[in-house]
Amino acid sequence: MATLSAGVLLLGLPAMGRPAEAPADFLLTGGRVWTAEAARPWAEAVAVRDGRILYVGDAAGAARLRGPKTRLFPLGSRLVLPGFDDAHIHLMSGALSLERVDLIEDGTVGAVQARIRAFAAAHPGAPWVLGRGWLYGSFPGGLPTRAQLDAAVADRPAYMECYDGHSGWANSRALALAGITKDTKDPVGGAIVRDPATGEPTGALKEAATSLVESKIPLPGTEERYQLLLRALRLLNSQGLTSVQDAGYAPAQLDADLPLMERALREGRLTVRLTVSVQMSPGDADAAIARAAALAQGHRGPLLRFGAVKGFVDGVIEAHTAAMLEPYSDDPAAGTGRPNWGPAALDAAVTAADRAGLQVYLHAIGDRGVRMALDAHEAALRANGRTDRRGRIEHVETISPADYPRFQALGVIASMQPLHANPDQNNADVWSRNIGPERASRGFSWRSIEKAGGRLVFGSDWPVVTSDVMRGLYCAVTRKTKDGTPAGGWLPEQAVSLESALRHYTIDGAYASFEEAEKGSLAPGKSADLVVLSEDLFRHPPEAILKTRVLLTMVDGRVVHHDAAFPAP
Ligand SMILES: [Zn+2]
Repeated sequence: MATLSAGVLLLGLPAMGRPAEAPADFLLTGGRVWTAEAARPWAEAVAVRDGRILYVGDAAGAARLRGPKTRLFPLGSRLVLPGFDDAHIHLMSGALSLERVDLIEDGTVGAVQARIRAFAAAHPGAPWVLGRGWLYGSFPGGLPTRAQLDAAVADRPAYMECYDGHSGWANSRALALAGITKDTKDPVGGAIVRDPATGEPTGALKEAATSLVESKIPLPGTEERYQLLLRALRLLNSQGLTSVQDAGYAPAQLDADLPLMERALREGRLTVRLTVSVQMSPGDADAAIARAAALAQGHRGPLLRFGAVKGFVDGVIEAHTAAMLEPYSDDPAAGTGRPNWGPAALDAAVTAADRAGLQVYLHAIGDRGVRMALDAHEAALRANGRTDRRGRIEHVETISPADYPRFQALGVIASMQPLHANPDQNNADVWSRNIGPERASRGFSWRSIEKAGGRLVFGSDWPVVTSDVMRGLYCAVTRKTKDGTPAGGWLPEQAVSLESALRHYTIDGAYASFEEAEKGSLAPGKSADLVVLSEDLFRHPPEAILKTRVLLTMVDGRVVHHDAAFPAP
């Protein structure tokens, strides 16, 4: 990678002062360009040739690169940024979610049921009614019931995944199809929620128990899944995304999906740069490490790359499955949650993956989970020495104050998702209640991690929440819902500046996939991955972010999204 970038820079550098300079393929000029380059953050123009950035500077310098075939984009009041990088996404789940009902915006049982009913009516031939995105806070007691889903869909099996992917909601038909009765034992690492009086399954399933139903859902055929993948890529491009990092493929799922990604690559239709990590579980760490290492040999980019494993240290706070240092506040019976790994096994697996040259992502949400993850990255450092390993922790929803400095000290990246801090009813009624005000006061503490010198990267976790970067940016800088609540923002001292948020969506993301020499900022020689936004975000109040449109997205010097509102040359 280092060799490649050096060569590319040599080719790309001589932009000025050469009389025989070939003209640019594209000129974006006469507006404002934010480059994400610390030394020179602002410019007026960008020139692109052969997929590379040829020039970044003033408009006069750019004018000299205009030839008869150059496509000229006059910018006016618009803003050019490096293309966005979503550092934590689930691409194929997102693709499949395009054919499911999305419940994320519905806050009450009635609203959720109405949306499911309408979706079922619009898809009369679908053998299952599938959806995702329900919030714990929408249901009295924090979990939905089969009766509530039967009331919306009675004629077919129906199954709705929780927004966080850690819980499921089945109707009576789906439970029957999966053979789940009051005599069914809980699977390892999961729970069938039961009525305390009768012992009958309520319809809610936690963690590994979700697969009892999910394994019965017919997967769309290969061609249909490929078409959904292409739709997903177009959606991401329309949101300004030029890179995504897929956070953890179960090996079996990879068998089904990797051929689709390879086909898109072969056909020139992989229009988002894709980095993929392989899921590593306590029972199969060695196999996952071997698989990820082998895939890393065959897929080194620049469009499709492997090289990482991901482990789940714990679950989620809403379901009391995140690992906490002290017991949950709302329900003493929940204890401190339960990590998926013992500390020794986790340290050993992370050290082994690191020794194999792999980057390690660790999902850790509770303060104990985060500490275990930091400890495991530290164990790898002690065992294997100081290398450029760039260990990551995903989510970091709450944290002990003692652990803030360790991100910087260990060089561990905090990979966080602004919309997970969306201060909606679910956040207040379930998330904050479960851990109590003291720990909630360190919720999604982006600014504290920044201040302690830690490196943050931003993403969405799509389809957990929308992949719309503007929604994430708005929450990152305001800590408010899209409706502007609460008025002053939730824990507003943890909001980050616009410039900082943009760095976390661009150059820091590139760093997280070891590609910062190649992309992530606008500088001569780098890949021409960029976006044009309808508004100059730096010149408006934050509310303008929500009205901002992505007018143009370019990947590798190729226009992959172009809004009709932007004059085409
Ligand atoms: Zn995720």
